[in-house]
Amino acid sequence: MLKENLQSVEENIKKACEEAGRKREEVTLIAVSKTKPVEMLQEIYDQDIRDFGENKVQEMCDKMEVLPKDIKWHMIGHLQTNKIKYIIGKTELIHSVDSLHLAQEISKQAVKHNVQADILIEINIANEETKFGIDAGDTIQLVREIAELPNIHIKGLMTIAPFVENPEDNRLYFRRIHQLSVDITKENIDNVSMDVLSMGMTGDYMVAIEEGATMVRVGTGIFGERNYNK
Ligand SMILES: *Cc1c(COP(=O)(O)O)cnc(C)c1O
Repeated sequence: MLKENLQSVEENIKKACEEAGRKREEVTLIAVSKTKPVEMLQEIYDQDIRDFGENKVQEMCDKMEVLPKDIKWHMIGHLQTNKIKYIIGKTELIHSVDSLHLAQEISKQAVKHNVQADILIEINIANEETKFGIDAGDTIQLVREIAELPNIHIKGLMTIAPFVENPEDNRLYFRRIHQLSVDITKENIDNVSMDVLSMGMTGDYMVAIEEGATMVRVGTGIFGERNYNK
């Protein structure tokens, strides 16, 4: 069943790329495996997926220990500073940096362990009270401050768009994130690149790709609904 799910997600990604005149290789599919057992991750790994997204440090570390070493792990959840030490040097990308304080701690741990940490800035694009992420208007300031820190590198932007029935409703938000990345690129800040736009989830990844996403984070569409009361 997972194989079929993955195939239909893959077809949708291809379709959206074609629609937008983009190459399929421009978009990385991240399989969001939070709450799911390692057997399911292995099944998707066997279909040649290498990028997995988790939102909890402990769960990610547990899965890292038992799954193949060539997996690229993406931290997509809100991070507590005291937990950074457990994942530093082990993640491909930390998608959820939304404060100078958090970035300072990542930088500190990266220096301590002599590694480089790649991160994205999380934007709360619709100013939702329930969401993490910074206001779009504060982004350039934060990017400038983080760019000064050692062993940490901003690679782009991430957003979690509102939960909507109609994915078209999120198009303007994805467009704003894209525009923001263009604006930041124009600032020409040392140690900052805007190559990555991590946006689009099960409900809206096709629209996100049409608006320039380079990483889509798909959970339910691959693994099925999550059960949190186990
Ligand atoms: C859970 C989660 C996803 C995946 O959500 P689905 O709707 O299941 O695809 C994507 N991004 C983040 C940050 C998440 O926490």
